[in-house]
Amino acid sequence: GDRPQEAMRSAHEIAASTYHHVLMLTEQGSSGRQYIKERGFSREQLEHFQIGFAPDRWDALTTILTKKAFDLKMMASASLLGERESGGQFYDRFRNRVMFPIWDGQGNVIAFGGRTITDEKPKYLNSSESPIFQKGKTLYGLHLARPSIRKQGSIVLFEGYVDVIAAWGAGIANGVATLGTSLTEEQAKLIRRNAESVLLCYDSDKAGTEAAFKNANLLQQEGCIVKIAQMPEGNDPDDYIRQFGAERFKNDVIGSSLTLMAFKMQFLRKGKNLNDESERMQYIESVLAEMSSLTRAVERDHYLRQIAEEFSLSLDALKQEQNQLYRAKE
Ligand code: ATP
Ligand code: MN
Ligand code: MN
Ligand code: MN
Repeated sequence: GDRPQEAMRSAHEIAASTYHHVLMLTEQGSSGRQYIKERGFSREQLEHFQIGFAPDRWDALTTILTKKAFDLKMMASASLLGERESGGQFYDRFRNRVMFPIWDGQGNVIAFGGRTITDEKPKYLNSSESPIFQKGKTLYGLHLARPSIRKQGSIVLFEGYVDVIAAWGAGIANGVATLGTSLTEEQAKLIRRNAESVLLCYDSDKAGTEAAFKNANLLQQEGCIVKIAQMPEGNDPDDYIRQFGAERFKNDVIGSSLTLMAFKMQFLRKGKNLNDESERMQYIESVLAEMSSLTRAVERDHYLRQIAEEFSLSLDALKQEQNQLYRAKE
């Protein structure tokens, strides 16, 4: 294998177990434990996700990596350490933060997310890209979720790793997260390779809703059956679980999600009087147009039948209408 990359991976492994040990067992970890207690993570969650704490010091990890004879410049390029402007002097990049290891698909630690326990900015400090970490190719928690993904045939996609961890605590074990709201084509393909069906469970705020729409379309293009979960305005999954509990999260959020198409239909009919013929025709046309984004014939057929039934139209008439619409677009 590649030696620098092997060294980087092994340093990440050491860092992850050091941070975890600090959080679980040491005096230096007490402020981290206090924070964790307030957030309500259980011991099982801390262990399953190997959550840790980077002490409020400049030299904790630096000392350990020095003792183990790691090349510190290399450790800085792997984003574990920082290097002073003057050069040749190194310091811990993560300080006074709760640490979330980020793994590759095989379970090697390749990066960290660190959440401040104060009001320091940024709230989350993530590792920079490095030879072992490409953000756009990584899905947080994939190797842990894989058995459940296989069993369910579906993935739940969150925008934050804290949401994955909270959902796991509530019994939803097929959750993964991008690191932020953007989803790359590579991540979409990775999701499709692991499951046919994907449920987006993003924050119920402007950024989350916009991202859910955008990413849902991308996932649909990759051939996924896409659903979108709905939560009360302002909540994210972690807030929701703490406020309403696991059962309601499973039933009212995960269980009552809409397919992307149903979600769009709900949106398109908002404010329309469907008893009015011209508004009804407008609605039907916009739904037929939207259906062109469905890559699966079975899905198209399902919604055509639904429209036919709701408005007492013949399937043939709808299909003709749709063909005309598509031809007009070309
Ligand atoms: P918390 O509940 O701890 O306040 P959150 O997970 O709800 O945090 P959001 O602000 O919703 O945080 O952000 C979702 C995800 O986006 C985070 O988990 C993190 O991966 C990423 N993120 C958020 N803020 C930043 C930031 N300033 N820099 C880098 N990544 C960030
Ligand atoms: Mn958010
Ligand atoms: Mn959030
Ligand atoms: Mn949150």
